[in-house]
Amino acid sequence: MTSTLAVNGGEPVRSTPFPAWPTADSADEAALLDVLRSGKWGSTHGDLVARFEREFAQYQHARFGVCVCNGTLALAAALRAVGVGLGDEVVVPPYTFIASAAAVTFVGAIPVFADIDPDTHLLDPQAVEAVISERTKAVMPVHIAGRPCDMDAFAELGRRHGVAIIEDSAQAHGAEWKGRRVGALGDVGTFSFQTSKNVSAGEGGIVVTNDEALADRLYSIANVGRVRGGGWYEHQHLGYNLRLTEFQAALLFGQLRRHPEQQARRATNAALLRRLLADVDGVWLPPEDPAVTAHGWHLFLLRLPGIGGRKHAFVRALAAEGIPCSAGYDGLHRNKALNDEIATIVKRLDVPWKEPHLPVADRLVSDTIWLPQPTLLGTEEDIHDIATAITKVLAHVDEL
Ligand SMILES: *Cc1c(COP(=O)(O)O)cnc(C)c1O
Repeated sequence: MTSTLAVNGGEPVRSTPFPAWPTADSADEAALLDVLRSGKWGSTHGDLVARFEREFAQYQHARFGVCVCNGTLALAAALRAVGVGLGDEVVVPPYTFIASAAAVTFVGAIPVFADIDPDTHLLDPQAVEAVISERTKAVMPVHIAGRPCDMDAFAELGRRHGVAIIEDSAQAHGAEWKGRRVGALGDVGTFSFQTSKNVSAGEGGIVVTNDEALADRLYSIANVGRVRGGGWYEHQHLGYNLRLTEFQAALLFGQLRRHPEQQARRATNAALLRRLLADVDGVWLPPEDPAVTAHGWHLFLLRLPGIGGRKHAFVRALAAEGIPCSAGYDGLHRNKALNDEIATIVKRLDVPWKEPHLPVADRLVSDTIWLPQPTLLGTEEDIHDIATAITKVLAHVDEL
């Protein structure tokens, strides 16, 4: 390919936009107006949030769901519900959104990093094993990109060490491990309905579990310590107000109704993109795993092993060709705010702390990029454009 890169003044591969996200239809408009006119704007008066909790829990093969205001506080609520508190350790992956580890510090606990699997970018159960201590209270597998973690290994590890397994499923709506949907494969799981997520209400989240006592604790944590059926000023526990509004629930029904069809399209397009990129020099694709019976496709993730420190330049060049893309996470173990907070907790509580050793994460953050999920919602032609643009930028990588 001889054409000049768009970033250097050439013609872009594509100038038409990819599908918009989130999606809405006239039924969503009517549902929002219904809530508006009903005067029941909050879940303390309406019943849409409670109905959506049941519907979403069922969708994820879980018995119970408690809606909360976002995926970040869903994690804090889940951590509190399983009893994580001051000075406890929670094992988290370094390759995830900052909320996964920040939520651990919100309950006064210490995030302990364990390395990721080089094939999947996901928390490696064997690496977790190596950092478990007598202070470990929970382990947080994060289903990054929508690809489920090895939930057989984590469930077994949880039982053997007597630690809670909290699935951060913010990117994994509908994702399945061996035919079972994620969220309640461990003790408790959290989802996000933030704008970019595959099921969206602008903001929002939910915590799911199969454990009724845990579901009741979550309800109380999300409802200022009230208990189901209890009085308005009867606060048996201390809790936050994490409630979702009825407006958000009204939107979520339509989002969930469209989700299976959108997932099918993402999966078909992802498979096509994998075929088109399979033989492109300089592209590495995560190997498929038959245990992943449904990928959540929040991100299409790929590595550029020869990119040598020019990942950000590559992403700028690919974006200039008209392809939405991201350089992704830098590794949470390198985040100063998080490290400062961990150091403060460790110092105040005078507990031991070991510098994390994360060679796989360090290698993978340097060359991993991703495409956001709406790019997988378009036509076959859109997918061909993505492959063409990636191939073009790789062919001109020396000019970046
Ligand atoms: C989006 C996300 C969250 C946080 O969800 P919010 O609703 O944005 O607070 C947590 N973990 C992961 C992995 C996410 O992608």
